Amino acid sequence: MFTYRYRELPVALQHKGEVRTALARELHIHPEKIFNLEVERFALDSRKKGNPHWSYNVIFDVQQQLRAGKNAARGLLEASRENETPDSDPLAQSVPMASHIDVIGAGPAGLWAALHLLRRGFAVDLYEQGKPVEERFRDIRRFFAERVFNEHSNVLFGEGGAGAFSDGKLNTRSRNIFSETVLRDMVEFGVDESVVTFAKPHIGTDRLVLMLRKIRAEIARLGGKIHFYTALEDIEIKNGCVCAIKVNDEWKPCDALVLATGHSARGIYELLAARGVTLESKAFAMGVRVEHPQALINLRQLGKDVDTKLTGSAEYFLATPTLNKTSSAYSFCMCPGGVLVPCASEPGTLATNGMSYSRRNGHTANGAIVVPVDASSTTFGGLDFQRKTERDAFDVGGKNYAAPAQTIKAFLAHHADKSLPKSTYPCGLVPSNIWDWLDKKICSSLAEGFQNFDRKIPGFIEQGLIVAPETRTSSPVRITRNNDTLESVNTKGLFVLGEGAGYSGGIVTSAADGIRLAVRAKKSK
Ligand SMILES: Cc1cc2nc3c(=O)[nH]c(=O)nc-3n(C[C@H](O)[C@H](O)[C@H](O)COP(=O)(O)OP(=O)(O)OC[C@H]3O[C@@H](n4cnc5c(N)ncnc54)[C@H](O)[C@@H]3O)c2cc1C
Repeated sequence: MFTYRYRELPVALQHKGEVRTALARELHIHPEKIFNLEVERFALDSRKKGNPHWSYNVIFDVQQQLRAGKNAARGLLEASRENETPDSDPLAQSVPMASHIDVIGAGPAGLWAALHLLRRGFAVDLYEQGKPVEERFRDIRRFFAERVFNEHSNVLFGEGGAGAFSDGKLNTRSRNIFSETVLRDMVEFGVDESVVTFAKPHIGTDRLVLMLRKIRAEIARLGGKIHFYTALEDIEIKNGCVCAIKVNDEWKPCDALVLATGHSARGIYELLAARGVTLESKAFAMGVRVEHPQALINLRQLGKDVDTKLTGSAEYFLATPTLNKTSSAYSFCMCPGGVLVPCASEPGTLATNGMSYSRRNGHTANGAIVVPVDASSTTFGGLDFQRKTERDAFDVGGKNYAAPAQTIKAFLAHHADKSLPKSTYPCGLVPSNIWDWLDKKICSSLAEGFQNFDRKIPGFIEQGLIVAPETRTSSPVRITRNNDTLESVNTKGLFVLGEGAGYSGGIVTSAADGIRLAVRAKKSK
């Protein structure tokens, strides 16, 4: 047998999945002469407006060598099949850890760390300040309807972490064996298996919630203990080693502590600083959310008369190509067919984000348009800047979680609107001239960005609504760690994971960080 890969195999929209026929046609061979055909990746190719199609990367065997001239079309490459697993990591089982581990935070990083540590025979207690996802859902609905904010149970905190009520995009900038394992685990927990092969997988908040229940059951089946409503309140460090933790007012001895508390647990950064754990500031980005009619984005990105039931709602990725890259606006975390959500983690503050359901069939597209921020002169410079912006937005919005908003047209003319178009934001909008309270440098970069984006997507300005601010793109603080052991550089027994540690961004990379630690862990006592 001879093994080959074929890259970018085109398949018509209405023939999604019919890969064998398309491959045989490209190779000029009979479909039955193709063996062991596997899809490695597929994507929607919409580079040619008006004619989007599926593009597949496949691996397959044939009995006879394919001859260059005849069969070696553009995408054909000789190949071999490797079967990599997380245990092929060169650092597998190299990090000594106590056989009992306390994991803090049930977001993607903490859940996947707990799951894979349990699978490797460690005993795990998992502490989450928030509630199980079903109860959390009720608190979020109550917040949207009645503006009753719960500090420990909200869009950011509770089982599933910030990932649970999110857009549920599962793409990562670079895939590796850890992120592949996260996606395969998700399939095991009931998610459609196309997430493993689709280049831009998305499951939506409705399916994420179902998956979380199954993960909870699996952790329990493996003997893990999940403690909801239980916050980490303090850490005791003696001679540079973690030796105890305080949870719900009770001190417990601790030999190995895995901190996966996310980037919104600001109190944890303050606690770590007070206990002498090394932290550093980190660049992040800040800006606003914009909403557009999804029909406009579909038209501009896919072309006229394209059936979005076949393609899904269209996305955009935009960046201003300015010379000074540090102030360029770019799009982030775009949610086709999604809705806007308030995602404060502290009372008296306001931040926005986007989420969607699995069908992504809402009439509105929203995306963050953000600008890099360098507030690195002090460790907490970025965090203070985030907090100040969120407090200002809360005040401008009338102190009841209504969000300041402005059409892009009015933003470019520096005046507040008399009235605002409809929005999916659930707590109401207040017309505001955003230049009056959001950092001027950010506003200038956004203005430049909007002009540029309107050339790529005509109508971006005319039909765009800004809802502000978007402050939580990534952590403004890093808990400095050794990249091999994932342990704090100055505190033994403290392992820091995920977005809060400043080493991941997004659901899959955060969960992958959890697996990385479990794979490297080796029982020391
Ligand atoms: C609205 C929204 C939409 C998003 N959309 C996407 C998307 O489409 N795709 C994507 O990849 N990413 C998305 N993200 C980002 C993604 O959710 C995060 O990158 C990811 O959840 C980070 O995982 P984590 O485990 O590191 O931290 P988190 O998910 O933040 O989890 C941390 C957990 O720790 C708990 N915790 C904090 N402090 C304590 C304490 N003292 N004691 C006990 N528990 C504590 C918190 O309650 C929380 O549950 C979105 C985020 C939001 C808010």
